[in-house]
Amino acid sequence: MTNRIADMCRRLMLDLRRPDKEIVPIGYSGSLLSHEQAVADIPFLLFTDALYRELQFYLQESDGEFQLMGLVHYDEEDNRFVVEELLHPPHIAGVANADLDQDLFPLWLDQLEKEGKDIRLLRLQAHSHGLIDAYFSSVDIRTIREAYACDWMISMVGNKKGFVLARLDVFRPVALSISLSIVVESPQFVFSPKEQSCWRNKRESRMKGLPRAEAEKGEVNGKFSAPA
Ligand SMILES: [Zn+2]
Repeated sequence: MTNRIADMCRRLMLDLRRPDKEIVPIGYSGSLLSHEQAVADIPFLLFTDALYRELQFYLQESDGEFQLMGLVHYDEEDNRFVVEELLHPPHIAGVANADLDQDLFPLWLDQLEKEGKDIRLLRLQAHSHGLIDAYFSSVDIRTIREAYACDWMISMVGNKKGFVLARLDVFRPVALSISLSIVVESPQFVFSPKEQSCWRNKRESRMKGLPRAEAEKGEVNGKFSAPA
């Protein structure tokens, strides 16, 4: 940019901030339109059961912070983001921070390409807060605002309890941030033998020690009634 243009931009910015150029919103206060009012419903983030369990394994195993990245493709037809693979970028992790290793990161990308992975799909950046609450902190939001050079990126934050949040940030052609639902496809709930026998016993002993008359006390006309 020439100095002349840069000067002009600066002057325009100053002009816009002058009180006599106050901007007055009219009509809607801005919010995303969804469902039948929108051109498409709000997209969501889809995990296969195996990938979601892999994510939960990393989250629940670690007391401290760490970073993960993911290959994600945008499924235009269904307006959803599909996670294809989780990857561990080189990073230095501590109790309250996890920073990408800037020297090793380009080498890691090279290595992924050699393995035949499409690094253009590296659109998911996830991190854990370990033992503390999972939320996008002011530092996280600053990173999202400043660190990405692509047109859109999905960010996730989680913690050891397995709580996770996801957001989509679009940088171009318009800047937008959307909180994303996380959907797990065909979750395979696997129960340990101990859980199975404990829960079976609990179910099977539901009438134990209750004479039928006692059991019916909590009912009025066949409906549940809490004791007065
Ligand atoms: Zn964070």
